[in-house]
Amino acid sequence: MAKADDRSDLEKDLFEEISHGKVSKVKEIVSSGKVRVDCLEEHGMTPLQNAAFKGNKELCELLLAHGADVNSNEHENGYTTLMFAALAGSIECCRVLLEAGAKTSSINSVGRTATQMAAFVGQHSCVSLINNFFTKEDLDYYTKPQGFEKEGKLPSHLAGPLHKMILQSNLNPVKIALYMIKSKELLENASKVARVLDVICEKEFKKNEVNEVLSVKMHYLASVVRACHVWNVEKLDGMDGFVKSLLKGRETDGFQLAMEKFIREIIREYPYHESQLLQQMVRNIAPVKPGDDPSALCILTQGINGSHGFKDENVCATCGDQNSEKKCSACKMVNYCCQNCQKLHWFTHKKVCKTFAELYKKQKEMEEKMKQLELEREKQKLESEKESKDEKDTTEDEKEPNKEEEIKQETGEGSDELKEVKDISGDVLKVEDVDLKDQESGDDQERDSNDKKEVISPES
Ligand SMILES: [Zn+2]
Ligand SMILES: [Zn+2]
Repeated sequence: MAKADDRSDLEKDLFEEISHGKVSKVKEIVSSGKVRVDCLEEHGMTPLQNAAFKGNKELCELLLAHGADVNSNEHENGYTTLMFAALAGSIECCRVLLEAGAKTSSINSVGRTATQMAAFVGQHSCVSLINNFFTKEDLDYYTKPQGFEKEGKLPSHLAGPLHKMILQSNLNPVKIALYMIKSKELLENASKVARVLDVICEKEFKKNEVNEVLSVKMHYLASVVRACHVWNVEKLDGMDGFVKSLLKGRETDGFQLAMEKFIREIIREYPYHESQLLQQMVRNIAPVKPGDDPSALCILTQGINGSHGFKDENVCATCGDQNSEKKCSACKMVNYCCQNCQKLHWFTHKKVCKTFAELYKKQKEMEEKMKQLELEREKQKLESEKESKDEKDTTEDEKEPNKEEEIKQETGEGSDELKEVKDISGDVLKVEDVDLKDQESGDDQERDSNDKKEVISPES
């Protein structure tokens, strides 16, 4: 049901500028003081909801800074701002809204929460972000003395960096260890940090509205932080040694056995055996021989972040960050997010790099062969189609329309081929329009430029 639109012209302009992502214009309008920052358009959508649906983080921040209500519930179908951001698949907007206090439990008119809406449209990264969210205030609680305590469990200057670590969705222990190295204050207070994480783990499992995901995550983080403490304090080679022990790959295939064992052990040590999530993870891990797929890290990540739709193709071989598109220049078989990660990995990767390079070469040769075969086949098909069409043209000149139909009928199995050509261009292409040679050289060019972009050399 549409509501009466009571917006002023300037307020209508505000929506217009948000739709076009014009940050400076929006800033000008909201700063003028002449608009209501939570004015509603005809469906009950606020400017902030509009910005969230556009996936525009900057605009969300701007509107929030001008006092926009993050939990407005005026939308005709009960959609919240967080739902709009999640539907848009904008992790950044979701994060900004969560940090501004967006409620995760609100439901819309069909009884769905933001995560359910996001899962419904396949925005799994948003699902995992929302499921894992832990507010800064929740953590700040531990910086204040409780009960008989003289001081809080957590020194207050650690709340910021620890909160950042908790919100991380990459659970690779190397990533966590590297973060600990970077955040010296966390490392120096590692045993305190681990204790706070243990307390949160227990609280999340024992509270009324159990959050098993957060509880398991806190236990996992506590365990990794404790391991960091042990290596940092008790072992000669310190944190570097810890990172190396995790990264060390098996001589045959580079599989990280120590990391596998480390993570399995942590999962086994989760104290609440009645947990459904724990039981599910153990069931998934038990039949897998260490070294086979899926790894314990994979099962843990799935358990905590929800099932991911995306493939693990561009994952950094060192820290596990996604969208790592740089490749080892020697073998082109492993990806890295940055040169530092590549350097850290080289001590163990160098043992398999050569083997990987040979594998890569073979794969490429195979692909090339398959491509040649495919092209050959296509060419033959097109030729035979053209022949039969020419025949038809000479015999039945009058039946000009529906050329395409005719070809399909004549060649029978060639119809699929024709459909493909149509799909790529989005338009109906006549068979004569397809020039195989052009296609081929175009592909090559693209591949060459890709290779150049991605490669980084281990030695440099
Ligand atoms: Zn990395
Ligand atoms: Zn390599």
